[in-house]
Amino acid sequence: IMSIEVSQVSKTFDTFTALHELNLKIHTGELVALLGPSGSGKTTLLRIIAGLEPPDTGSIIFDGEDNTEKSTQDRKVGFVFQHYALFKNMTVFENIAFGLKVRPAKLRPGKEVIRQKVQELLALVKMEELANRYPAQLSGGQRQRIALARALAVEPKVLLLDEPFGALDAKVRKDLRRWLRKLHNEYPITSVFVTHDQEEALDVADRIVILNEGKIEQIGTPEEVYDNPANPFVYNFLGNVNLFHGRMHDGKVELGSLQLEAPEHAGIGNADIVSYIRPHDIEICLEDEGKGFIAAEIFFIRAVGPIVNLELKRLDNDEYIEVEISKEVYRSLQLKAKQNVYLRPRDFKV
Ligand code: ADP
Ligand code: MG
Repeated sequence: IMSIEVSQVSKTFDTFTALHELNLKIHTGELVALLGPSGSGKTTLLRIIAGLEPPDTGSIIFDGEDNTEKSTQDRKVGFVFQHYALFKNMTVFENIAFGLKVRPAKLRPGKEVIRQKVQELLALVKMEELANRYPAQLSGGQRQRIALARALAVEPKVLLLDEPFGALDAKVRKDLRRWLRKLHNEYPITSVFVTHDQEEALDVADRIVILNEGKIEQIGTPEEVYDNPANPFVYNFLGNVNLFHGRMHDGKVELGSLQLEAPEHAGIGNADIVSYIRPHDIEICLEDEGKGFIAAEIFFIRAVGPIVNLELKRLDNDEYIEVEISKEVYRSLQLKAKQNVYLRPRDFKV
Protein backbone atom coordinates (compact mmCIF):
# COMPACT_ATOMS: atom_id res chain seq x y z
CA ILE A 1 0.00 0.00 0.00
CA MET A 2 1.15 3.51 -0.72
CA SER A 3 0.31 7.12 -0.15
CA ILE A 4 -0.10 9.29 -3.25
CA GLU A 5 0.81 12.93 -3.53
CA VAL A 6 -0.16 15.08 -6.47
CA SER A 7 1.96 18.22 -6.40
CA GLN A 8 1.42 21.28 -8.62
CA VAL A 9 0.15 19.13 -11.50
CA SER A 10 -1.00 20.97 -14.65
CA LYS A 11 -2.01 19.64 -18.04
CA THR A 12 -2.84 21.52 -21.23
CA PHE A 13 -4.12 19.96 -24.46
CA ASP A 14 -3.36 22.29 -27.37
CA THR A 15 -4.64 25.53 -25.88
CA PHE A 16 -7.11 24.01 -23.44
CA THR A 17 -5.94 23.70 -19.85
CA ALA A 18 -7.54 20.55 -18.41
CA LEU A 19 -5.79 20.70 -15.01
CA HIS A 20 -4.63 23.82 -13.15
CA GLU A 21 -1.78 23.24 -10.66
CA LEU A 22 -3.52 20.60 -8.59
CA ASN A 23 -2.34 19.61 -5.12
CA LEU A 24 -3.70 16.56 -3.36
CA LYS A 25 -2.55 14.10 -0.72
CA ILE A 26 -4.10 10.65 -0.54
CA HIS A 27 -3.24 8.67 2.56
CA THR A 28 -2.15 5.06 2.67
CA GLY A 29 -5.16 2.75 2.59
CA GLU A 30 -7.66 5.48 1.78
CA LEU A 31 -10.44 5.23 -0.76
CA VAL A 32 -10.71 8.67 -2.34
CA ALA A 33 -13.36 9.64 -4.88
CA LEU A 34 -12.61 12.18 -7.63
CA LEU A 35 -16.02 13.71 -8.20
CA GLY A 36 -16.91 16.26 -10.83
CA PRO A 37 -19.06 16.89 -13.89
CA SER A 38 -18.10 15.55 -17.29
CA GLY A 39 -15.03 17.34 -18.66
CA SER A 40 -13.77 18.49 -15.24
CA GLY A 41 -10.46 16.62 -15.62
CA LYS A 42 -11.05 13.45 -13.57
CA THR A 43 -9.81 10.98 -16.17
CA THR A 44 -6.85 13.18 -17.05
CA LEU A 45 -5.77 13.30 -13.40
CA LEU A 46 -6.20 9.55 -13.01
CA ARG A 47 -4.15 8.89 -16.16
CA ILE A 48 -1.39 11.15 -14.86
CA ILE A 49 -1.36 9.29 -11.52
CA ALA A 50 -1.18 6.03 -13.49
CA GLY A 51 1.69 7.22 -15.68
CA LEU A 52 -0.38 6.86 -18.85
CA GLU A 53 -0.03 10.59 -19.48
CA PRO A 54 2.80 12.93 -18.47
CA PRO A 55 1.89 16.13 -16.61
CA ASP A 56 3.15 19.43 -18.10
CA THR A 57 4.25 20.62 -14.68
CA GLY A 58 4.36 19.13 -11.21
CA SER A 59 4.97 15.68 -9.86
CA ILE A 60 3.38 12.43 -8.73
CA ILE A 61 4.87 11.12 -5.52
CA PHE A 62 4.25 7.60 -4.19
CA ASP A 63 5.31 7.04 -0.56
CA GLY A 64 7.53 10.10 -0.65
CA GLU A 65 9.30 8.99 -3.82
CA ASP A 66 8.98 10.98 -7.05
CA ASN A 67 7.41 8.69 -9.67
CA THR A 68 6.74 11.32 -12.35
CA GLU A 69 9.30 9.83 -14.75
CA LYS A 70 8.40 6.21 -14.04
CA SER A 71 6.49 4.05 -16.50
CA THR A 72 3.08 2.64 -15.67
CA GLN A 73 4.57 -0.85 -15.27
CA ASP A 74 6.97 0.42 -12.60
CA ARG A 75 4.28 2.19 -10.58
CA LYS A 76 2.50 -0.84 -9.08
CA VAL A 77 -0.95 0.39 -10.05
CA GLY A 78 -4.01 -1.60 -11.10
CA PHE A 79 -6.88 -0.23 -13.19
CA VAL A 80 -10.53 -0.78 -13.75
CA PHE A 81 -12.29 1.25 -16.44
CA GLN A 82 -15.91 1.71 -17.37
CA HIS A 83 -15.55 -0.41 -20.48
CA TYR A 84 -12.89 -2.80 -19.35
CA ALA A 85 -12.46 -5.25 -22.18
CA LEU A 86 -11.99 -8.67 -20.70
CA PHE A 87 -10.42 -11.06 -23.18
CA LYS A 88 -13.44 -12.59 -24.90
CA ASN A 89 -11.76 -15.82 -25.85
CA MET A 90 -10.46 -16.50 -22.34
CA THR A 91 -12.37 -17.88 -19.39
CA VAL A 92 -12.80 -15.93 -16.18
CA PHE A 93 -9.96 -17.97 -14.68
CA GLU A 94 -7.63 -17.21 -17.61
CA ASN A 95 -8.54 -13.53 -17.58
CA ILE A 96 -7.56 -13.20 -13.93
CA ALA A 97 -4.39 -15.27 -14.40
CA PHE A 98 -3.32 -13.24 -17.43
CA GLY A 99 -1.32 -10.56 -15.63
CA LEU A 100 0.68 -13.19 -13.77
CA LYS A 101 1.33 -15.37 -16.81
CA VAL A 102 2.75 -12.53 -18.91
CA ARG A 103 5.34 -11.57 -16.33
CA PRO A 104 9.00 -11.91 -17.31
CA ALA A 105 10.19 -15.48 -16.68
CA LYS A 106 12.12 -14.73 -13.52
CA LEU A 107 9.12 -13.01 -11.88
CA ARG A 108 6.49 -15.46 -13.14
CA PRO A 109 4.98 -17.64 -10.43
CA GLY A 110 4.62 -21.39 -11.02
CA LYS A 111 1.40 -22.88 -12.36
CA GLU A 112 0.17 -24.08 -8.97
CA VAL A 113 0.86 -20.72 -7.32
CA ILE A 114 -1.07 -18.96 -10.09
CA ARG A 115 -3.99 -21.38 -9.66
CA GLN A 116 -4.11 -20.70 -5.94
CA LYS A 117 -3.86 -16.95 -6.40
CA VAL A 118 -6.72 -16.95 -8.91
CA GLN A 119 -8.84 -19.06 -6.53
CA GLU A 120 -8.21 -16.56 -3.74
CA LEU A 121 -9.20 -13.66 -5.97
CA LEU A 122 -12.32 -15.46 -7.17
CA ALA A 123 -13.26 -16.00 -3.53
CA LEU A 124 -12.54 -12.34 -2.76
CA VAL A 125 -14.90 -11.15 -5.50
CA LYS A 126 -17.36 -13.98 -4.66
CA MET A 127 -17.29 -15.58 -8.09
CA GLU A 128 -15.72 -18.99 -7.42
CA GLU A 129 -18.41 -20.88 -9.28
CA LEU A 130 -17.95 -18.85 -12.46
CA ALA A 131 -14.27 -19.64 -13.10
CA ASN A 132 -14.92 -21.51 -16.33
CA ARG A 133 -17.37 -19.10 -17.91
CA TYR A 134 -16.51 -16.76 -20.76
CA PRO A 135 -17.14 -12.99 -20.49
CA ALA A 136 -20.14 -13.20 -22.82
CA GLN A 137 -21.80 -15.52 -20.30
CA LEU A 138 -21.57 -12.95 -17.48
CA SER A 139 -23.73 -10.00 -16.50
CA GLY A 140 -22.24 -6.49 -16.64
CA GLY A 141 -21.83 -6.42 -12.87
CA GLN A 142 -20.08 -9.80 -12.85
CA ARG A 143 -17.72 -8.63 -15.59
CA GLN A 144 -16.68 -5.59 -13.56
CA ARG A 145 -16.01 -7.81 -10.55
CA ILE A 146 -13.78 -9.99 -12.71
CA ALA A 147 -12.08 -6.87 -14.07
CA LEU A 148 -11.34 -5.90 -10.49
CA ALA A 149 -10.02 -9.36 -9.61
CA ARG A 150 -7.83 -9.15 -12.69
CA ALA A 151 -6.49 -5.75 -11.65
CA LEU A 152 -5.70 -7.10 -8.18
CA ALA A 153 -3.92 -10.24 -9.45
CA VAL A 154 -0.58 -8.49 -9.85
CA GLU A 155 -0.84 -7.18 -6.27
CA PRO A 156 -0.86 -3.46 -7.04
CA LYS A 157 -0.40 -1.03 -4.19
CA VAL A 158 -2.70 1.48 -5.79
CA LEU A 159 -6.03 0.78 -7.46
CA LEU A 160 -7.36 3.31 -9.97
CA LEU A 161 -11.00 3.06 -10.98
CA ASP A 162 -12.43 5.26 -13.73
CA GLU A 163 -16.25 5.19 -13.53
CA PRO A 164 -16.07 1.41 -13.12
CA PHE A 165 -19.81 0.98 -12.66
CA GLY A 166 -20.90 3.79 -14.97
CA ALA A 167 -22.32 1.51 -17.66
CA LEU A 168 -24.46 -0.55 -15.29
CA ASP A 169 -28.03 0.04 -14.20
CA ALA A 170 -28.80 1.84 -10.96
CA LYS A 171 -29.60 -1.16 -8.77
CA VAL A 172 -26.49 -3.12 -9.80
CA ARG A 173 -24.35 0.00 -9.40
CA LYS A 174 -25.53 0.47 -5.86
CA ASP A 175 -24.86 -3.17 -4.95
CA LEU A 176 -21.41 -3.02 -6.52
CA ARG A 177 -20.30 0.13 -4.76
CA ARG A 178 -21.28 -1.31 -1.37
CA TRP A 179 -19.43 -4.44 -2.35
CA LEU A 180 -16.36 -2.42 -3.41
CA ARG A 181 -16.40 -0.56 -0.10
CA LYS A 182 -16.45 -3.85 1.81
CA LEU A 183 -13.70 -5.29 -0.34
CA HIS A 184 -11.61 -2.18 0.22
CA ASN A 185 -11.99 -2.60 3.97
CA GLU A 186 -10.70 -6.17 3.77
CA TYR A 187 -7.97 -5.72 1.21
CA PRO A 188 -4.96 -3.50 1.93
CA ILE A 189 -4.81 -1.01 -0.93
CA THR A 190 -5.02 2.72 -1.66
CA SER A 191 -7.77 3.50 -4.17
CA VAL A 192 -8.77 6.43 -6.33
CA PHE A 193 -12.31 6.14 -7.62
CA VAL A 194 -13.51 8.47 -10.39
CA THR A 195 -17.21 9.20 -10.66
CA HIS A 196 -19.57 11.95 -11.78
CA ASP A 197 -22.30 10.51 -9.52
CA GLN A 198 -22.59 12.42 -6.22
CA GLU A 199 -24.48 9.64 -4.48
CA GLU A 200 -21.86 7.10 -5.48
CA ALA A 201 -19.05 9.27 -4.11
CA LEU A 202 -20.91 10.05 -0.88
CA ASP A 203 -21.65 6.35 -0.43
CA VAL A 204 -18.27 4.83 -1.08
CA ALA A 205 -15.44 7.25 -0.30
CA ASP A 206 -13.39 8.02 2.82
CA ARG A 207 -12.80 11.45 1.31
CA ILE A 208 -14.12 13.22 -1.75
CA VAL A 209 -12.16 15.53 -4.04
CA ILE A 210 -14.52 17.80 -5.95
CA LEU A 211 -13.19 18.85 -9.33
CA ASN A 212 -14.60 21.56 -11.55
CA GLU A 213 -12.99 22.90 -14.74
CA GLY A 214 -9.63 21.41 -13.82
CA LYS A 215 -9.52 22.88 -10.33
CA ILE A 216 -10.17 21.37 -6.91
CA GLU A 217 -13.18 23.05 -5.30
CA GLN A 218 -13.05 21.14 -2.02
CA ILE A 219 -11.55 18.08 -0.35
CA GLY A 220 -13.23 16.45 2.64
CA THR A 221 -15.11 13.52 4.10
CA PRO A 222 -18.60 12.95 2.69
CA GLU A 223 -20.08 14.62 5.79
CA GLU A 224 -17.78 17.64 5.51
CA VAL A 225 -18.44 18.35 1.86
CA TYR A 226 -22.17 17.74 2.16
CA ASP A 227 -22.76 19.68 5.38
CA ASN A 228 -20.15 22.40 4.87
CA PRO A 229 -19.76 22.95 1.15
CA ALA A 230 -16.95 25.39 0.44
CA ASN A 231 -18.82 27.31 -2.25
CA PRO A 232 -21.98 27.45 -4.38
CA PHE A 233 -20.61 24.99 -6.92
CA VAL A 234 -20.13 22.29 -4.29
CA TYR A 235 -23.45 23.09 -2.68
CA ASN A 236 -25.28 22.61 -5.95
CA PHE A 237 -23.30 19.66 -7.12
CA LEU A 238 -23.77 17.55 -4.02
CA GLY A 239 -27.50 17.39 -3.83
CA ASN A 240 -30.79 19.09 -4.35
CA VAL A 241 -30.82 22.60 -3.11
CA ASN A 242 -33.26 25.51 -3.14
CA LEU A 243 -31.84 28.88 -4.11
CA PHE A 244 -33.56 31.90 -2.59
CA HIS A 245 -32.61 35.35 -3.74
CA GLY A 246 -32.79 38.15 -1.26
CA ARG A 247 -31.01 40.83 0.76
CA MET A 248 -28.99 40.89 3.90
CA HIS A 249 -29.03 43.94 6.14
CA ASP A 250 -28.04 44.57 9.74
CA GLY A 251 -27.67 40.92 10.61
CA LYS A 252 -31.02 39.96 9.11
CA VAL A 253 -31.67 37.99 5.97
CA GLU A 254 -34.73 38.87 3.94
CA LEU A 255 -35.88 36.38 1.35
CA GLY A 256 -39.08 37.89 0.02
CA SER A 257 -41.49 37.95 2.93
CA LEU A 258 -39.27 35.61 4.90
CA GLN A 259 -37.12 37.19 7.63
CA LEU A 260 -34.34 35.23 9.27
CA GLU A 261 -31.35 35.87 11.51
CA ALA A 262 -28.21 35.88 9.36
CA PRO A 263 -25.91 32.95 10.06
CA GLU A 264 -22.76 33.87 11.99
CA HIS A 265 -20.31 33.32 9.14
CA ALA A 266 -22.25 35.74 6.93
CA GLY A 267 -21.00 38.86 8.72
CA ILE A 268 -23.22 41.91 9.05
CA GLY A 269 -22.71 43.72 5.75
CA ASN A 270 -25.60 44.87 3.58
CA ALA A 271 -25.78 43.06 0.27
CA ASP A 272 -27.89 41.16 -2.24
CA ILE A 273 -27.47 37.50 -1.47
CA VAL A 274 -28.36 34.02 -2.62
CA SER A 275 -29.16 31.53 0.10
CA TYR A 276 -28.99 27.78 -0.24
CA ILE A 277 -31.45 25.57 1.54
CA ARG A 278 -31.47 21.77 1.37
CA PRO A 279 -34.93 20.22 0.85
CA HIS A 280 -34.65 18.30 4.13
CA ASP A 281 -33.80 21.46 6.06
CA ILE A 282 -37.25 22.94 5.59
CA GLU A 283 -39.96 22.67 8.22
CA ILE A 284 -43.56 22.51 7.12
CA CYS A 285 -46.74 23.32 9.05
CA LEU A 286 -50.44 23.95 8.46
CA GLU A 287 -50.89 27.21 10.35
CA ASP A 288 -49.13 30.51 9.85
CA GLU A 289 -47.21 30.72 13.09
CA GLY A 290 -46.14 34.27 12.48
CA LYS A 291 -42.88 35.75 11.37
CA GLY A 292 -40.42 33.43 9.78
CA PHE A 293 -42.81 31.31 7.74
CA ILE A 294 -43.71 31.65 4.08
CA ALA A 295 -46.91 30.53 2.47
CA ALA A 296 -46.72 28.10 -0.42
CA GLU A 297 -48.98 25.88 -2.43
CA ILE A 298 -48.25 22.18 -2.84
CA PHE A 299 -48.44 21.19 -6.48
CA PHE A 300 -46.65 17.84 -6.52
CA ILE A 301 -46.21 15.04 -4.00
CA ARG A 302 -44.04 11.97 -4.43
CA ALA A 303 -44.73 9.65 -1.50
CA VAL A 304 -42.83 6.51 -2.49
CA GLY A 305 -40.54 5.14 0.23
CA PRO A 306 -39.77 6.57 3.67
CA ILE A 307 -38.97 10.08 2.37
CA VAL A 308 -41.73 12.17 0.84
CA ASN A 309 -40.74 14.78 -1.76
CA LEU A 310 -42.92 17.82 -2.17
CA GLU A 311 -42.76 20.52 -4.79
CA LEU A 312 -44.34 23.80 -3.82
CA LYS A 313 -44.82 27.26 -5.24
CA ARG A 314 -44.33 30.28 -3.03
CA LEU A 315 -47.37 32.52 -2.89
CA ASP A 316 -45.31 35.71 -2.49
CA ASN A 317 -43.10 35.41 -5.55
CA ASP A 318 -43.87 32.25 -7.57
CA GLU A 319 -40.47 30.64 -6.85
CA TYR A 320 -40.49 26.87 -6.62
CA ILE A 321 -39.36 25.04 -3.52
CA GLU A 322 -38.47 21.42 -2.99
CA VAL A 323 -39.08 19.95 0.44
CA GLU A 324 -38.34 16.52 1.88
CA ILE A 325 -40.17 15.24 4.91
CA SER A 326 -40.57 11.88 6.58
CA LYS A 327 -43.55 9.72 5.84
CA GLU A 328 -44.69 10.16 9.47
CA VAL A 329 -44.82 13.94 9.17
CA TYR A 330 -46.53 13.63 5.81
CA ARG A 331 -49.21 11.35 7.26
CA SER A 332 -49.75 13.35 10.41
CA LEU A 333 -50.26 16.57 8.42
CA GLN A 334 -52.44 14.76 5.82
CA LEU A 335 -50.96 16.82 3.00
CA LYS A 336 -52.67 16.99 -0.37
CA ALA A 337 -51.83 18.62 -3.69
CA LYS A 338 -53.21 22.18 -4.16
CA GLN A 339 -53.20 22.72 -0.39
CA ASN A 340 -51.58 25.84 1.07
CA VAL A 341 -48.98 25.32 3.80
CA TYR A 342 -46.29 27.31 5.64
CA LEU A 343 -42.57 26.76 5.39
CA ARG A 344 -39.49 27.77 7.32
CA PRO A 345 -35.86 26.85 6.77
CA ARG A 346 -34.30 25.12 9.75
CA ASP A 347 -30.86 25.68 8.32
CA PHE A 348 -29.47 27.60 5.38
CA LYS A 349 -26.26 29.04 3.95
CA VAL A 350 -25.60 32.34 2.24
P1 ADP B 1 -13.65 13.93 -17.17
O1 ADP B 1 -13.00 12.58 -17.02
O2 ADP B 1 -13.81 14.66 -15.88
O3 ADP B 1 -14.92 13.87 -17.93
P2 ADP B 1 -11.37 14.49 -18.87
O4 ADP B 1 -10.19 14.40 -17.96
O5 ADP B 1 -11.61 13.30 -19.73
O6 ADP B 1 -12.66 14.86 -18.02
O7 ADP B 1 -11.22 15.75 -19.80
C1 ADP B 1 -11.02 17.05 -19.30
C2 ADP B 1 -10.95 18.00 -20.47
O8 ADP B 1 -9.76 17.79 -21.21
C3 ADP B 1 -12.11 17.85 -21.44
O9 ADP B 1 -12.51 19.12 -21.87
C4 ADP B 1 -11.50 17.05 -22.58
O10 ADP B 1 -12.13 17.38 -23.80
C5 ADP B 1 -10.06 17.50 -22.57
N1 ADP B 1 -9.17 16.41 -23.03
C6 ADP B 1 -8.96 15.25 -22.39
N2 ADP B 1 -8.07 14.49 -23.06
C7 ADP B 1 -7.74 15.18 -24.17
C8 ADP B 1 -6.86 14.94 -25.28
N3 ADP B 1 -6.14 13.81 -25.37
N4 ADP B 1 -6.78 15.89 -26.23
C9 ADP B 1 -7.49 17.03 -26.14
N5 ADP B 1 -8.31 17.34 -25.14
C10 ADP B 1 -8.45 16.43 -24.15
MG1 MG C 1 -13.66 10.67 -17.55
